[in-house]
Amino acid sequence: MAATDRVAVIGAGPIGLYAAFRLVKAGHRVVIWEKGSIGANVEQWGHVTLFSAMALNLPDDCRKALETGLEGAPPRCVPSEDAFLTGHEFRRDVLLPLASYLEATGRCTIQEHCSVVGLARGHLLKKEGIGAVGDSRRETLPFRALLRRNDDEAWEEAMAVVDCSGTYAPETAQRSGSGGLSAPGEAKAEALGLVSRVIPSPGSFKGKRVAVLGGGFSAITTIRKLADENVETVWLVRKAKSEAPYQRVEGDPLPQRDALAAYGNGLASLGTSGSLECVRGARIQRIDVVRNALKLTLTDSTIVEVDHLVSLTGYRPNADLYRELHVHQCYASDGPMKLAATLLAAAAGGGGGDCLKQAAPGAATLRNPEPRFYILGMKSYGRNSSFLMRVGYEQCSLLVDELAGCATLDPFKAPPGAPDPPCDDAAAGVGVAVA
Ligand SMILES: Cc1cc2nc3c(=O)[nH]c(=O)nc-3n(C[C@H](O)[C@H](O)[C@H](O)COP(=O)(O)OP(=O)(O)OC[C@H]3O[C@@H](n4cnc5c(N)ncnc54)[C@H](O)[C@@H]3O)c2cc1C
Repeated sequence: MAATDRVAVIGAGPIGLYAAFRLVKAGHRVVIWEKGSIGANVEQWGHVTLFSAMALNLPDDCRKALETGLEGAPPRCVPSEDAFLTGHEFRRDVLLPLASYLEATGRCTIQEHCSVVGLARGHLLKKEGIGAVGDSRRETLPFRALLRRNDDEAWEEAMAVVDCSGTYAPETAQRSGSGGLSAPGEAKAEALGLVSRVIPSPGSFKGKRVAVLGGGFSAITTIRKLADENVETVWLVRKAKSEAPYQRVEGDPLPQRDALAAYGNGLASLGTSGSLECVRGARIQRIDVVRNALKLTLTDSTIVEVDHLVSLTGYRPNADLYRELHVHQCYASDGPMKLAATLLAAAAGGGGGDCLKQAAPGAATLRNPEPRFYILGMKSYGRNSSFLMRVGYEQCSLLVDELAGCATLDPFKAPPGAPDPPCDDAAAGVGVAVA
């Protein structure tokens, strides 16, 4: 595949794979760079059951394509629209078959265990090629991606990049201290393996006393699993006693989600029940390691002693990937600004609570100052956790409309092995430097 006429997708999660599906169907050639294996993040929480049914988790065109099959990709039996799958089943029965289908088209290559470390635009520095002042070099130059496979690093090129790398990873998890910073002592406790930042696998804490920090769906999912396993648990909830931890959506069209919210509010109102103690208004002031266990000091001086802290306070996007590109990020959510502004406006208008009522708001909101660089999927919502796959699938349709102007990116095609287009100031005929 010639590097200069392809679209690169970062991440083989549900949205990256569907983006590739739509791009391939629209005639583009696609490469997917995936840090782990296909559906790696979904597999991390594979034992958890999705709260949205298959009807929302797989678009119709993709279902039909999988059921029909292709030469080289056999027809598949896809789980029914009303099925609620675990993450593991979703990966096995949907994501892996979709990946095989994509490769069978001959227009998509999936490179697993290939991590994108960073992206640049040709050889331009960040301060060069600024579109807002009429310098159009970034319009025509290919992207250069620094890729890491095992110990090896290499550059590869693409004419458009779609970042679907999600946010669910321990490295990008928000920290546990009051105000979102690391609590003093947290880094040391983490280095000793006493703090974790993703939903634990079943059986991880047999015979231990565990603190779970957080008031989101990951936290209550974990609390429920630990209660089933009779693990002694202290649930640290930031919201005060006067507020229910979970805001319930009236007539929630996702009953499983509502049941989880009701369960969380019920447990929190009880305070102590069975093996669970719930501490409200909890903010961690510092973390000390004492004889290979944790002493958590809260801001009101309460001391909580546990063997392990599961910190589930949300995730933020990894902006390192596009640090050298022109991306305008929202100061509150770290998501791309145009989409973040639309989400904020929806929330202010009262429509923010129910993520099923959210729609992907038009191709223009996907655009960044960096031409042909798009952030889709979970990552496009930044720190906002209300993202649903359904919205990501809509974004993929918009992306195809957006790239339609480039047809198969032919205008930028260069013969295989051709050198980079000139990008020094003299050759490009434009000279802009911003200090
Ligand atoms: C417990 C849990 C339950 C959920 N339940 C639902 C539900 O019921 N319904 C729903 O709609 N949503 C649900 N979600 C949200 C769900 O995770 C997302 O909707 C979905 O997985 C997002 O897909 P994505 O493709 O954007 O990102 P991800 O699934 O996170 O995929 C991102 C991919 O990018 C890869 N990657 C990361 N960094 C790099 C890099 N530098 N280079 C290359 N590859 C990289 C990762 O390895 C991963 O494979 C749930 C989330 C959790 C945590």
